[in-house]
Amino acid sequence: MVETQLRQRGIRDERILSAMSRVPRHEFVAEPYRSRAYDDNPLPIAEGQTISQPYIVAVMLELLDLAPNQTVLEIGTGSGYQTALLAELSQHVYSVERHGRLASEAEAVLQKLAYQNVTVIVGDGSKGLPEHAPFDAIVVAAAAPELPQALFEQLKEGGRLVLPVGPAESQALQVVTKQQGTPVIVEQTPCRFVPLIGEQGYPA
Ligand code: SAH
Repeated sequence: MVETQLRQRGIRDERILSAMSRVPRHEFVAEPYRSRAYDDNPLPIAEGQTISQPYIVAVMLELLDLAPNQTVLEIGTGSGYQTALLAELSQHVYSVERHGRLASEAEAVLQKLAYQNVTVIVGDGSKGLPEHAPFDAIVVAAAAPELPQALFEQLKEGGRLVLPVGPAESQALQVVTKQQGTPVIVEQTPCRFVPLIGEQGYPA
């Protein structure tokens, strides 16, 4: 997976490549999909959601550009796979998931793998996590209709927010940097994520 899907497609950050070779992706998918855990595509998880394709996770991690002493907020825990990678690359991860079942299953796997720098919270992540803000970086694993203002507000000056924006058929990854309190947006690659459902997302 790391060689053919990531390195050969241009993922260069050795910290990310090494984290992705360490984290056991098969632990984050259910039994029927285990043999396909390292395939080059997303896979179904509970509640009609998906575990993201390895390549798109790597792209998002590169865009986030985390340092080991940073605190990151993740919206959309899902299986917990990306959460584990964020835990490898940062000091602490707060991860918010709207489905209680996904949050508790992800938490169980993360505990089994002995991650101690992760806090999983059930709730509407489109509003962020004001009680733990500000964050060095924020990553959203579900597509928003537009930049959720609450998330931008909870970003530190100079911090980076990576998120897919757009309707089901046409989304693009955006990197939003906070520069002198204002958002500087750079649009990256087209992508396809499940919708962000919530107050600053799409209606349920
Ligand atoms: N990175 C995850 C991707 C999960 S899919 C993985 O690789 O497993 C996106 C997740 O976002 C879904 O689990 C969905 O339930 C969750 N989600 C959607 N809207 C949300 C919201 N407003 N707050 C928190 N989680 C949300």
